[in-house]
Amino acid sequence: MDDNAGCKVLKGVGVSKGIGIGRIFILQDSGSLAGRKAAPDKPEAELLRYRAARDRVWLRFRQDAAHIFKELGPGNGNILDVHALILKDQVLNQEIELLIQDGKKAEVAVETVFHEISDRQKLVKNEYLKERFTVARDIGRQLVIELLGAHRLEAVKDKGDVIVVARELTPFALAEHPANIKGFAVQTGGPTGHAAILARAYNIPMVLGIQDVEKAVIDGAPAVLNGATGELVLYPSPEVLEDSLRLRAAELAAADKARTENASPETKDGRRVNLLMNIETTYNLNISNPHGADGVGLFRSEFLFMHRETLPAEEEQFREFEKVAKAFFPRKVIIRTVDFGGDKPPPAGLEADKASAYSGLRGIRFCLAHEEFFETHLRAILRAGAGGNVGVMFPMVPGLETFRKAKTLLKKAKDKLEAEGVKLGKAMQAGIMIEVPSAALTAGALAREADFFSIGTNDLLQYTLGIDREDPSYSGYGLFLPPSILQLVQLVVESAHKKKKPVAVCGELAHNTMALPLLIGLGVDELSMDASHIPATRQAIRALSYAACRELAQKALLLETPAEIRDLMKSALP
Ligand code: PEP
Ligand code: MG
Repeated sequence: MDDNAGCKVLKGVGVSKGIGIGRIFILQDSGSLAGRKAAPDKPEAELLRYRAARDRVWLRFRQDAAHIFKELGPGNGNILDVHALILKDQVLNQEIELLIQDGKKAEVAVETVFHEISDRQKLVKNEYLKERFTVARDIGRQLVIELLGAHRLEAVKDKGDVIVVARELTPFALAEHPANIKGFAVQTGGPTGHAAILARAYNIPMVLGIQDVEKAVIDGAPAVLNGATGELVLYPSPEVLEDSLRLRAAELAAADKARTENASPETKDGRRVNLLMNIETTYNLNISNPHGADGVGLFRSEFLFMHRETLPAEEEQFREFEKVAKAFFPRKVIIRTVDFGGDKPPPAGLEADKASAYSGLRGIRFCLAHEEFFETHLRAILRAGAGGNVGVMFPMVPGLETFRKAKTLLKKAKDKLEAEGVKLGKAMQAGIMIEVPSAALTAGALAREADFFSIGTNDLLQYTLGIDREDPSYSGYGLFLPPSILQLVQLVVESAHKKKKPVAVCGELAHNTMALPLLIGLGVDELSMDASHIPATRQAIRALSYAACRELAQKALLLETPAEIRDLMKSALP
C-alpha cells in the first residue's frame, strides 16, 4: 500500500494476522505496566493522570454503591461508600502525590503506598481494623487496574467497528473485549507477549511497534489494519478499501476450508506429532475444539484470576477446570498452575513482588511463597482430574529442588482430599515447563522425576538471550531459533527420551511453520498452540518427511549463527 492523496500509512510489526476495517478509537491513557517502565517525563502530567484515574474509580464506587443500595438495601450499599471515602483520604493521596512529584509513575506510586498499608496490616490484631486494611488494599488494586487501562476496552462497546489504538495494552484488557473491535494498533509490546498471544487466540489483527501511534492517528478516522504486513492505513482510498475487503473475504474462506480438514497430523513417513490447543479462559474461548486438537497442551489458568476483586474459591476454580476437562475428554487437558508475575500481576488479595515482576516471585516461585493459596488451587485441579484426563504442569521451574517442593505439595493436597473421602483415581501426571536455561541444562535430572516436559519458548528465549519478550523488535532475533535455543531444545528432548518421557513445545515457536521441520527433526513429540494455527500446522506436518527433518536438524545443530539457521530453514521450505 502506498501513501497517496489523503491516505496515510503507519508501519509497525504485524503480530496477529488478518485484515481489520473500522474507525480509529484511541484508548486514552492506556497506561503502562507498573514498576517496569521508565519514570515519566512530566510529573505534573502524571499527577493529572493519577487524579483522573482516581476520580473515575471514585465515580464507579459511588455508582455501584447506589446500585447495590437499590438492589440489596442500605447495609450493603454502605460497603462501597467506605471504599469511596478511603479513596479520597487526604493522607493517602498526599503520600501518593508526593511520590509522583518525586518522579515516580502513578502506578508505582500507588503500589508503593498500598504495599506499605499491607505491611502495616500484618501488625494489626483487631479484626475490624484488619478488614479496613483489606478494603484499602482492594482500592489500591482497582486504582492500578484503572491506571493500566485494563477496563477501558468497555468504552468501545457501542462505537461500531473500531481499530483500537493504544500506547500499551495489558493482557487483562484483552481478556474481555467487545466483539466490535476489528484490530489493535499499539506502540509497545512484543510478538510473544501475552497481549499478542491473546489477539491471535481471538483472531483479531494486531500490529505492534508503531512509533507514537496515539499522536499519529486521528480519533474516528476510517482505517484498515493489516496484521500480516504490519501496516495501518488511515483514510484508505476506495481501491485500498476494495482490496482489503477482498483479502478479508479470502482469509475467511481459507479459514473455513481449513476448519473442515481434520486429517491426522503425521509426516509422509508416518511420524505423528500431536497437535494441542493453548487456551486462556473458558468463557471467552470456544472450547468445542473446532480444529480437531488432540487436547489442551497449555491451559493458562492465571487468566481465571483476572478482572476480579476477590480470589476465586476452590469450588469456582474446580468448576472452570472441570468444564474444560469434560469438553475434551477422553483427550488430555494440561492445566498449568498459575503463572503470576511478568506482565500478569497477581490479583487482589495476593501480594505482588515488590522487587521485580519478571525475575522475582514469578510462576512456581510465587505459588511456593503462597502455600495456602497454592493448596486451594491444586485441590481444584486434582478434583477436575477425577472427571477427566487432566495433567498438571508447573511454570518457571528452575531445577529439581523446586519441582520436588511442588510435587510434595501436590501429594499433600491429594492425600488430604482422599482423607476427606474425595475419590481421585490414579495419580495425576505432573510435568515441567522448560522456560529457563537452568531447567533445560538440568533436564537429565528433571526427566527422572517429571512425567513430561513442555518447552515454553517465549520465556526460554527471553531468559536465554536476555531480551524482553515485550520488545517489539524481538521477532528479529534469529527468527526465534538461534543456535542457543536449538541446542537447548535438543538437550531437553534427548534427556526426556532417554527416560521415555514426551516433550511438547507450547511457546509461540510451536506454530512457526519455518521452524517446524527442525522441531520435528529434533524429536519434539507434541506442539501446543492457539487453535487457529492448527490447520496450517497440520498441513505443513503432512508435507514433511521425518527422515529429512532429522537430517536437517543434525545439520542445523552444527551451525553457529541465527542467519545460518534461517538460511537452512529457508532452503528446506517446499
Ligand atoms: C512460554 O513461555 O513459552 C509459555 C508458553 O508460557 P507463557 O507464554 O504463558 O509465559
Ligand atoms: Mg512462559
